Amino acid sequence: MSELWQLSATEIAMRIANGEISAVEVAEAHNARIEALEPEINAFITPTPDIARAQAKAIDERRATGAPLPPLAGVPLALKDVICVDGVRTTAGSRILDAYVPPYSGTVVHMLADAGTLLVGKANMDEFAMGSSTENSAYGVTKNPWDLARVPGGSSGGSAAAVAAGMAPIGIGTDTGGSIRQPASLCGVVGMKPTYGRVSRYGLIAFASSLDQIGPFARNVRDTALLLNAIAGHDPKDSTSIPDPVPQYLDGLDAGIDGLRIGIVKESLSEGTQPGVAGRFKDAIETLTSLGGEVEEVSLPSFAHALSAYYLIAPAECSSNLARYDGVRYGMRADAPTVSEMNARTRAQGFGDEVKRRVMLGTYALSAGYYDAYYGKAQKVRTLVIRDFDEAYQKFDILVSPTSPTTAFKIGEKADDPLAMYLNDLFTIPSNLAGAPAISIPCGLAEDGLPVGLQIMGPLLSESLLLRAAFAYESARGPAERPPL
Ligand code: GLN
Repeated sequence: MSELWQLSATEIAMRIANGEISAVEVAEAHNARIEALEPEINAFITPTPDIARAQAKAIDERRATGAPLPPLAGVPLALKDVICVDGVRTTAGSRILDAYVPPYSGTVVHMLADAGTLLVGKANMDEFAMGSSTENSAYGVTKNPWDLARVPGGSSGGSAAAVAAGMAPIGIGTDTGGSIRQPASLCGVVGMKPTYGRVSRYGLIAFASSLDQIGPFARNVRDTALLLNAIAGHDPKDSTSIPDPVPQYLDGLDAGIDGLRIGIVKESLSEGTQPGVAGRFKDAIETLTSLGGEVEEVSLPSFAHALSAYYLIAPAECSSNLARYDGVRYGMRADAPTVSEMNARTRAQGFGDEVKRRVMLGTYALSAGYYDAYYGKAQKVRTLVIRDFDEAYQKFDILVSPTSPTTAFKIGEKADDPLAMYLNDLFTIPSNLAGAPAISIPCGLAEDGLPVGLQIMGPLLSESLLLRAAFAYESARGPAERPPL
């Protein structure tokens, strides 16, 4: 019989509901797993075993009354430390928020508690979600469970590693330019960026507000669908949230993809892609074809320019969002004789290098005289990317590409080379610029024995379709490989 930490969210919820196991047993099994692996993995900034235990107790008490249980009752959850939880330290991976304890919880935190999940910890991340390796965390890098000398990807590296290592069957991340899909790919788990506005961001510490989106991690597609249902929906507290009703993502999950028109993004078949990644992607295409998918190449000429546009838009928005960390209201304050010196010293001491780089780039791009040349131009490229997608979806239902050009790289390998780091996001950024959903699912191991991700992209609000395609693919290929832990 499998250990409790090996079970999927679906299995855990089922066994708890039918009385086979208790939620407290599940919480303790995962707390113990975290305690055993944390010294090596560092997936969490703040583990919360007591919260998980208390939530589990409440589930067991509710079960004892015979009352019906919510869909994820007793399922452990890793939450990226960029989402506020009332009374629990929330750092966004930054020294500047080291002692910040929010006085309220984000909307998704309430929804996840209502769905019955058990919060096992606040997961590690790149500072303010800026990065692709979790090396920019002020709390030490998270190690990839597949190879402890490698990064888990980022910025939601802690959530991805926790799910891959069996510290929790599900996790929550945020994706501004790929921060759910890329770490999912590098850790061999499923990760999804929903449509912009599908999930409330109330209580999310902002990075780039026109791009940020909260989304699910899991070890299989079904759990991903369940988790997305738990967090999706309109929220009057988030004016960017979409009012459309949320479908039941499990409905029609197994309807298959016979006749589905699938476009391979030509621009993602670049020479820069690692041979083993290209190889697994090719295998995935064969599988999709064997399932009845009508697969053809399609060119999105602006796809490759999305990266440059993003690295102006995201820093511009971050420079404005991060202006609030001035030592006055939130987080740390450095001593200084004058207010402006206090502001400057607080930011100099509180922010890490990548955050400072982005604030400087963004401030420059927005400054008088340069606005049109940089920010304005980047917004025009954004429009072109959206048009490319619109045109492609005239002919295709979904588009596919590798999620990331490479498998997990060595810790330190790209840390001093921001451009090399930014190139990780080449295939994930276009969907963020378009506000569209995309999912990454494991599609085998590359020549180096490390996981590869298949990215499936779709038009706005096509989450059901993406999950259906991902489920068909996963069912045909079989369960994803697991790390040797
Ligand atoms: N890696 C990208 C960046 O550094 C994306 C980050 C994200 O999606 N939060 O900006």
